[in-house]
Amino acid sequence: MKLTIKFDRRDIWVGAFWDREKRTLYVCPLPMLVFILRAEPAADAKRRAERTEVELHAASRWDCPECGIENFTRMIRPESIDREETISLLREKYGLSHDEAAAQEGEWMMQPDRVTCAACCMTFATTDPDAPEPGGDNYEPHRSDK
Ligand SMILES: [Zn+2]
Repeated sequence: MKLTIKFDRRDIWVGAFWDREKRTLYVCPLPMLVFILRAEPAADAKRRAERTEVELHAASRWDCPECGIENFTRMIRPESIDREETISLLREKYGLSHDEAAAQEGEWMMQPDRVTCAACCMTFATTDPDAPEPGGDNYEPHRSDK
């Protein structure tokens, strides 16, 4: 069993809830204060997990300026981008020669323009690391439409 105590603005309820699938008991004695008691996974779930592999995806970590929670956002993988296009982009962006660019390995990832905090649901513009003048002007919190 594992006990977690959480303070979350979204949990405006009082009472207890047993999530059978997640084998987790949520107890909310005061609004926004939640005790989360996780039971050990059932034996069959443990056996299934031992035989299962998960695929990891490239992501960016960021801290929410509003609530401070650490978030992970998936990077965007451009759909078909061919080898010559990649070489051309590398030459243009980093000033590499054709041979230097052709020798590079890896794949292109793009960051999303906006990210939404998983905890407080606020949406923020992301900074562009290539922008000539990085500034804090992109802090424009607004509620997500979700
Ligand atoms: Zn947040």
